[in-house]
Amino acid sequence: EKVLLNDAILNASEAKVSVFDRGFLFGDGVYEVMVQLDNRFFFGKEHLDRLESSLKKVRLSFELSTLPQKIDRLLDATGLTTEDCLLYIQVTRGTAPRKHAFPKDTAPTLLMYAVPFVLPEVNNKPVSAVTRPDFRWHRCDIKMTSLLGNVMANDFAIQNGHYEAIFNRDGKMTEGTHSNLFFVNEGMVFTHPADEHILNGITREIVLQLCRDNNIPYREEAIAFERINAMDEAFLTGTTTQIAAIRQIDDHTFYHRVEPGPVTKKLQQLFFELKKNPILH
Ligand code: PMP
Repeated sequence: EKVLLNDAILNASEAKVSVFDRGFLFGDGVYEVMVQLDNRFFFGKEHLDRLESSLKKVRLSFELSTLPQKIDRLLDATGLTTEDCLLYIQVTRGTAPRKHAFPKDTAPTLLMYAVPFVLPEVNNKPVSAVTRPDFRWHRCDIKMTSLLGNVMANDFAIQNGHYEAIFNRDGKMTEGTHSNLFFVNEGMVFTHPADEHILNGITREIVLQLCRDNNIPYREEAIAFERINAMDEAFLTGTTTQIAAIRQIDDHTFYHRVEPGPVTKKLQQLFFELKKNPILH
Protein backbone atom coordinates (compact mmCIF):
# COMPACT_ATOMS: atom_id res chain seq x y z
CA GLU A 1 0.00 0.00 0.00
CA LYS A 2 1.42 3.36 -1.12
CA VAL A 3 1.07 6.59 0.82
CA LEU A 4 2.22 10.14 0.20
CA LEU A 5 4.42 11.57 2.96
CA ASN A 6 5.38 15.19 2.29
CA ASP A 7 6.81 14.96 -1.24
CA ALA A 8 7.45 11.24 -1.44
CA ILE A 9 5.36 8.27 -2.51
CA LEU A 10 6.32 5.39 -0.21
CA ASN A 11 5.14 1.97 0.85
CA ALA A 12 3.06 2.48 4.01
CA SER A 13 5.43 0.19 5.92
CA GLU A 14 8.40 2.36 4.94
CA ALA A 15 6.82 5.76 5.53
CA LYS A 16 8.26 7.12 8.80
CA VAL A 17 7.34 10.12 10.92
CA SER A 18 9.45 11.39 13.82
CA VAL A 19 8.38 10.52 17.37
CA PHE A 20 8.71 14.29 17.95
CA ASP A 21 6.08 15.10 15.35
CA ARG A 22 3.54 17.38 17.03
CA GLY A 23 0.75 15.34 15.51
CA PHE A 24 1.96 12.38 17.59
CA LEU A 25 2.80 14.32 20.79
CA PHE A 26 -0.06 16.84 20.91
CA GLY A 27 -2.59 15.74 18.31
CA ASP A 28 -1.57 19.05 16.72
CA GLY A 29 -2.95 18.52 13.25
CA VAL A 30 -6.00 18.74 11.02
CA TYR A 31 -7.40 16.35 8.45
CA GLU A 32 -9.95 15.79 5.73
CA VAL A 33 -11.72 12.77 4.23
CA MET A 34 -13.34 12.75 0.82
CA VAL A 35 -14.48 10.23 -1.74
CA GLN A 36 -13.85 9.97 -5.46
CA LEU A 37 -17.01 8.92 -7.33
CA ASP A 38 -17.15 8.46 -11.10
CA ASN A 39 -13.74 10.07 -11.63
CA ARG A 40 -14.29 13.17 -9.53
CA PHE A 41 -14.08 14.04 -5.89
CA PHE A 42 -17.61 14.45 -4.58
CA PHE A 43 -17.75 18.09 -3.44
CA GLY A 44 -13.94 18.07 -3.50
CA LYS A 45 -13.70 21.86 -3.54
CA GLU A 46 -15.81 22.11 -0.39
CA HIS A 47 -13.58 19.55 1.37
CA LEU A 48 -10.40 21.39 0.38
CA ASP A 49 -11.93 24.72 1.41
CA ARG A 50 -12.73 23.22 4.81
CA LEU A 51 -9.15 21.94 5.11
CA GLU A 52 -7.94 25.47 4.41
CA SER A 53 -10.32 26.80 7.04
CA SER A 54 -9.19 24.22 9.65
CA LEU A 55 -5.53 25.12 8.95
CA LYS A 56 -6.30 28.82 9.43
CA LYS A 57 -8.22 28.22 12.66
CA VAL A 58 -5.21 26.50 14.24
CA ARG A 59 -2.72 28.95 12.64
CA LEU A 60 -0.92 26.21 10.73
CA SER A 61 0.65 27.50 7.51
CA PHE A 62 0.68 24.93 4.77
CA GLU A 63 0.99 25.44 1.03
CA LEU A 64 -2.28 24.10 -0.40
CA SER A 65 -1.68 25.08 -4.03
CA THR A 66 0.35 21.94 -4.80
CA LEU A 67 -2.13 19.58 -3.13
CA PRO A 68 -4.20 18.71 -6.26
CA GLN A 69 -1.04 17.65 -8.08
CA LYS A 70 0.05 15.55 -5.09
CA ILE A 71 -3.38 13.90 -4.98
CA ASP A 72 -2.98 13.02 -8.67
CA ARG A 73 0.46 11.51 -8.00
CA LEU A 74 -0.90 9.42 -5.13
CA LEU A 75 -3.87 8.15 -7.14
CA ASP A 76 -1.56 7.33 -10.01
CA ALA A 77 0.84 5.41 -7.74
CA THR A 78 -2.00 3.45 -6.16
CA GLY A 79 -3.72 2.70 -9.47
CA LEU A 80 -6.85 4.51 -8.28
CA THR A 81 -6.93 7.39 -10.79
CA THR A 82 -10.23 6.27 -12.29
CA GLU A 83 -11.48 4.15 -9.37
CA ASP A 84 -14.00 5.00 -6.69
CA CYS A 85 -11.89 5.54 -3.58
CA LEU A 86 -11.54 7.31 -0.25
CA LEU A 87 -8.80 9.91 0.24
CA TYR A 88 -7.43 10.80 3.68
CA ILE A 89 -5.38 14.00 4.04
CA GLN A 90 -3.63 14.98 7.28
CA VAL A 91 -1.41 17.97 8.01
CA THR A 92 0.39 18.28 11.35
CA ARG A 93 2.53 21.14 12.67
CA GLY A 94 5.68 19.07 12.05
CA THR A 95 8.63 17.95 14.11
CA ALA A 96 10.12 20.10 16.87
CA PRO A 97 11.35 19.74 20.49
CA ARG A 98 8.30 19.20 22.69
CA LYS A 99 7.08 22.62 23.82
CA HIS A 100 3.55 23.95 23.81
CA ALA A 101 4.54 27.10 21.92
CA PHE A 102 4.18 26.78 18.16
CA PRO A 103 7.66 26.21 16.68
CA LYS A 104 9.00 28.80 14.23
CA ASP A 105 10.07 27.77 10.73
CA THR A 106 9.10 24.12 11.18
CA ALA A 107 7.89 22.33 8.06
CA PRO A 108 4.44 20.79 8.47
CA THR A 109 4.02 17.04 7.90
CA LEU A 110 1.62 16.00 5.14
CA LEU A 111 0.27 12.45 5.01
CA MET A 112 -2.19 11.22 2.41
CA TYR A 113 -3.48 7.78 1.59
CA ALA A 114 -6.13 6.53 -0.80
CA VAL A 115 -7.97 3.22 -0.60
CA PRO A 116 -10.58 1.63 -2.86
CA PHE A 117 -13.99 2.47 -1.46
CA VAL A 118 -17.42 1.90 -2.89
CA LEU A 119 -20.31 3.81 -1.37
CA PRO A 120 -23.62 1.95 -1.25
CA GLU A 121 -26.10 3.64 -3.62
CA VAL A 122 -28.33 4.42 -0.66
CA ASN A 123 -27.48 3.76 2.96
CA ASN A 124 -30.69 1.92 3.75
CA LYS A 125 -29.66 0.27 6.95
CA PRO A 126 -31.27 2.18 9.85
CA VAL A 127 -28.79 2.43 12.72
CA SER A 128 -29.05 2.51 16.47
CA ALA A 129 -27.59 5.29 18.62
CA VAL A 130 -27.03 6.08 22.27
CA THR A 131 -26.70 9.54 23.84
CA ARG A 132 -23.57 10.57 25.75
CA PRO A 133 -22.63 13.78 27.54
CA ASP A 134 -20.65 15.99 25.14
CA PHE A 135 -17.41 16.09 27.11
CA ARG A 136 -15.47 17.49 24.16
CA TRP A 137 -14.00 20.98 24.08
CA HIS A 138 -15.69 24.07 22.63
CA ARG A 139 -14.01 24.08 19.19
CA CYS A 140 -15.68 21.10 17.57
CA ASP A 141 -15.83 23.17 14.36
CA ILE A 142 -12.15 22.36 13.73
CA LYS A 143 -11.57 19.08 11.90
CA MET A 144 -8.58 18.11 13.99
CA THR A 145 -6.75 14.83 14.51
CA SER A 146 -7.17 14.94 18.31
CA LEU A 147 -10.28 12.78 18.39
CA LEU A 148 -10.04 11.15 21.82
CA GLY A 149 -13.42 12.51 22.94
CA ASN A 150 -15.04 11.25 19.74
CA VAL A 151 -13.42 7.81 19.85
CA MET A 152 -14.20 7.32 23.56
CA ALA A 153 -17.88 8.07 23.00
CA ASN A 154 -17.94 5.88 19.88
CA ASP A 155 -16.34 3.06 21.85
CA PHE A 156 -19.11 3.35 24.44
CA ALA A 157 -21.68 3.02 21.66
CA ILE A 158 -19.96 -0.02 20.12
CA GLN A 159 -19.46 -1.71 23.53
CA ASN A 160 -23.21 -1.35 24.09
CA GLY A 161 -24.27 -2.68 20.71
CA HIS A 162 -24.97 0.64 18.98
CA TYR A 163 -23.60 2.14 15.78
CA GLU A 164 -23.10 5.70 16.97
CA ALA A 165 -23.06 7.88 20.06
CA ILE A 166 -24.91 11.18 19.90
CA PHE A 167 -23.54 14.00 22.02
CA ASN A 168 -25.74 15.87 24.50
CA ARG A 169 -24.31 19.26 25.47
CA ASP A 170 -26.21 21.01 28.26
CA GLY A 171 -29.44 19.24 27.34
CA LYS A 172 -29.16 19.83 23.59
CA MET A 173 -28.26 17.23 20.99
CA THR A 174 -25.21 18.36 19.01
CA GLU A 175 -23.90 15.67 16.62
CA GLY A 176 -22.57 12.12 16.39
CA THR A 177 -18.95 11.12 17.03
CA HIS A 178 -18.31 11.01 13.27
CA SER A 179 -21.55 12.30 11.79
CA ASN A 180 -24.02 15.18 11.95
CA LEU A 181 -27.48 14.71 13.41
CA PHE A 182 -30.87 15.61 11.96
CA PHE A 183 -34.42 15.25 13.25
CA VAL A 184 -37.76 15.55 11.49
CA ASN A 185 -40.85 16.77 13.30
CA GLU A 186 -44.17 17.26 11.50
CA GLY A 187 -42.39 17.66 8.18
CA MET A 188 -39.85 20.20 9.51
CA VAL A 189 -36.17 19.18 9.37
CA PHE A 190 -33.99 20.19 12.33
CA THR A 191 -30.23 20.19 12.76
CA HIS A 192 -27.85 21.89 15.21
CA PRO A 193 -26.59 25.29 13.98
CA ALA A 194 -23.06 25.31 12.51
CA ASP A 195 -21.42 26.91 15.53
CA GLU A 196 -18.36 25.89 17.55
CA HIS A 197 -20.14 22.87 19.06
CA ILE A 198 -20.33 20.79 15.88
CA LEU A 199 -18.24 20.05 12.83
CA ASN A 200 -20.09 21.57 9.91
CA GLY A 201 -20.23 18.49 7.69
CA ILE A 202 -20.05 18.84 3.93
CA THR A 203 -22.90 16.30 3.80
CA ARG A 204 -24.84 18.41 6.34
CA GLU A 205 -24.54 21.43 4.03
CA ILE A 206 -25.53 19.32 1.01
CA VAL A 207 -28.65 18.06 2.83
CA LEU A 208 -29.65 21.63 3.75
CA GLN A 209 -29.19 22.69 0.12
CA LEU A 210 -31.32 19.71 -1.01
CA CYS A 211 -34.00 20.92 1.44
CA ARG A 212 -33.87 24.44 -0.04
CA ASP A 213 -33.98 23.14 -3.63
CA ASN A 214 -36.93 20.86 -2.93
CA ASN A 215 -39.05 23.04 -0.65
CA ILE A 216 -38.46 20.88 2.39
CA PRO A 217 -38.68 23.26 5.35
CA TYR A 218 -35.80 23.21 7.83
CA ARG A 219 -34.45 25.03 10.85
CA GLU A 220 -30.88 25.11 12.12
CA GLU A 221 -32.00 24.67 15.69
CA ALA A 222 -30.80 22.17 18.29
CA ILE A 223 -33.27 19.61 19.63
CA ALA A 224 -33.43 19.23 23.40
CA PHE A 225 -32.73 15.80 24.88
CA GLU A 226 -36.26 15.65 26.39
CA ARG A 227 -37.82 16.23 22.96
CA ILE A 228 -36.27 13.19 21.26
CA ASN A 229 -39.44 11.21 22.03
CA ALA A 230 -41.52 13.80 20.19
CA MET A 231 -39.51 13.50 16.96
CA ASP A 232 -40.92 11.57 14.00
CA GLU A 233 -37.62 10.75 12.30
CA ALA A 234 -33.91 11.06 12.92
CA PHE A 235 -30.91 10.54 10.68
CA LEU A 236 -27.14 10.92 10.55
CA THR A 237 -25.05 12.39 7.75
CA GLY A 238 -21.39 12.10 6.78
CA THR A 239 -19.09 11.57 3.82
CA THR A 240 -18.99 7.80 4.23
CA THR A 241 -22.24 7.51 6.23
CA GLN A 242 -24.14 9.45 3.52
CA ILE A 243 -27.67 9.65 5.00
CA ALA A 244 -28.32 6.93 7.58
CA ALA A 245 -31.76 6.65 9.14
CA ILE A 246 -31.68 6.22 12.93
CA ARG A 247 -34.00 3.47 14.12
CA GLN A 248 -33.42 4.03 17.82
CA ILE A 249 -31.93 6.61 20.17
CA ASP A 250 -31.61 5.29 23.73
CA ASP A 251 -35.06 3.77 24.44
CA HIS A 252 -36.94 5.66 21.78
CA THR A 253 -37.60 3.89 18.48
CA PHE A 254 -38.50 5.48 15.13
CA TYR A 255 -40.50 3.87 12.35
CA HIS A 256 -40.89 0.39 13.79
CA ARG A 257 -37.09 0.16 13.69
CA VAL A 258 -37.09 -1.21 10.14
CA GLU A 259 -37.42 1.52 7.57
CA PRO A 260 -36.46 5.16 7.20
CA GLY A 261 -39.29 7.67 7.63
CA PRO A 262 -40.69 9.48 4.56
CA VAL A 263 -38.59 12.67 4.80
CA THR A 264 -35.38 10.68 5.41
CA LYS A 265 -36.25 8.45 2.45
CA LYS A 266 -36.93 11.45 0.23
CA LEU A 267 -33.57 13.04 1.14
CA GLN A 268 -31.80 9.71 0.54
CA GLN A 269 -33.36 9.57 -2.93
CA LEU A 270 -32.34 13.18 -3.67
CA PHE A 271 -28.82 12.45 -2.42
CA PHE A 272 -28.61 9.37 -4.65
CA GLU A 273 -29.59 11.50 -7.67
CA LEU A 274 -27.07 14.17 -6.68
CA LYS A 275 -24.25 11.61 -6.75
CA LYS A 276 -25.09 10.85 -10.37
CA ASN A 277 -25.16 14.57 -11.19
CA PRO A 278 -23.35 16.50 -8.42
CA ILE A 279 -24.80 19.93 -9.12
CA LEU A 280 -26.78 21.98 -6.62
CA HIS A 281 -28.73 25.16 -7.31
N1 PMP B 1 -19.19 15.50 12.71
C1 PMP B 1 -18.04 14.88 13.04
C2 PMP B 1 -17.58 14.94 14.46
C3 PMP B 1 -17.29 14.20 12.05
O1 PMP B 1 -16.13 13.60 12.37
C4 PMP B 1 -17.77 14.17 10.71
C5 PMP B 1 -16.95 13.53 9.62
N2 PMP B 1 -17.05 12.14 9.55
C6 PMP B 1 -19.00 14.79 10.43
C7 PMP B 1 -19.66 15.46 11.44
C8 PMP B 1 -19.58 14.75 9.03
O2 PMP B 1 -18.83 15.56 8.15
P1 PMP B 1 -18.78 15.29 6.59
O3 PMP B 1 -20.19 15.30 6.10
O4 PMP B 1 -18.02 16.45 6.02
O5 PMP B 1 -18.12 13.99 6.37
